[in-house]
Amino acid sequence: MMNYEVGIIGGGIIGNSIAYQLGKEGIRAAVLESEQLGSKATSAAAGMLGAHSENKKRDIFYEFCRESRDLFPNVSKDLYEITGIHVQLVQEGMYQLAFTESEAMELKSLADREKEFVWHDQKEVLKQEPNLTDDIIGALWIKGDGQVEPKALCQAFSKGARAFGADFYEQTPVYEVNKTGTSYALKTPLGIFNCEKVIVANGVWSGKFFEQLGLRNPMKPVKGECFAIRMDKPLVTKTIFHEHCYIVPKLNGRCIIGATSVVDSWHQEPTVQGISSLMNNAQQLVPSISNQSILEAWSSLRPQTFDGWPIIGEHPEWEGVFFATGHYRNGILLSPITGIVVKDLVLKQNQFSRYLGAFSINRLRTAV
Ligand code: FAD
Repeated sequence: MMNYEVGIIGGGIIGNSIAYQLGKEGIRAAVLESEQLGSKATSAAAGMLGAHSENKKRDIFYEFCRESRDLFPNVSKDLYEITGIHVQLVQEGMYQLAFTESEAMELKSLADREKEFVWHDQKEVLKQEPNLTDDIIGALWIKGDGQVEPKALCQAFSKGARAFGADFYEQTPVYEVNKTGTSYALKTPLGIFNCEKVIVANGVWSGKFFEQLGLRNPMKPVKGECFAIRMDKPLVTKTIFHEHCYIVPKLNGRCIIGATSVVDSWHQEPTVQGISSLMNNAQQLVPSISNQSILEAWSSLRPQTFDGWPIIGEHPEWEGVFFATGHYRNGILLSPITGIVVKDLVLKQNQFSRYLGAFSINRLRTAV
């Protein structure tokens, strides 16, 4: 039997960020991952930090996204100092394109209301991004929303956590969580891990543990597909998006194009239909994309909850069992703040306690 203060189920971006924050506080955690670290939704992500592009409303979820986005410069710097891994943070902003007068009016009115937004007319946009189609009327420049490389961020969190004493077990699925006196027994193929506290952070598969721990299963898979091209010369410098198509140029010359959205699908492979629809959309935004080489296509499952917001909090009856899941389209963006909030819950601190009500498990009770 192995003994740990905290057992983390799931080695995606969320489990790794939590392990890193706990490690910084000297708490010894084991991360139990059924396949390889970061191999599921985390490595499928484009890495956009879209606090504004993902949120039309100005509610507490928007504040959570924005607060997490603003943690990135310091988190990236710390991770680089501790691990030597460059998470490729880019803070060039994003362009949301307008093709119709009504889209342009809506985006201009946003620019009039908020400092984060600047309206650029067609001439200005094409000066900055000459490869965009001239069918556009203009674009909203969302100044502060950036991007990172999700796999590098996940590796940096895990390497950082390791440096602070965390242990990682890949190919180690957790089958069951059982209470044993004041601690918990996690049943795995390696035997029992005895942990004082448990964090359920296994993305869309966490539904199983909600049920096993006597709660309603709030999780729904939302399949997303992407593909990548090699840019022989930079096609775009900023992330570009319109409706459900985005083009994200990476620092290493790759460019990610995403993403489809198939609700309630457990299918994990990209399809011809999904990828061809993305290709068509992308060519309408940047026509010269059609000449570029395709590197790969992939897909994975976004962990969505019944109301679209994450669940971050302690089990109402099982003291010491925490959930951190349901980050849906924004798990990369929300990874820094989620790590800190869960670390605070474990230590009974309250740096970001104002968010706990909004993301609490108790809302499962009132959900229809
Ligand atoms: P996952 O990364 O899925 O990790 C969960 C882990 O748990 C997996 O590694 C799995 O193997 C493991 N596991 C499952 N069951 C068990 C078990 N029983 N025992 C042990 N381990 C288990 N977000 C953004 O912020 N920006 C983006 O641009 C963005 N783009 C996206 C594009 C696509 C196509 C997709 C699919 C998602 C995108 N997302 C984006 C969302 C983001 O990827 C997710 O919200 C995030 O990765 C969720 O992280 P996670 O750690 O909760 O889940």
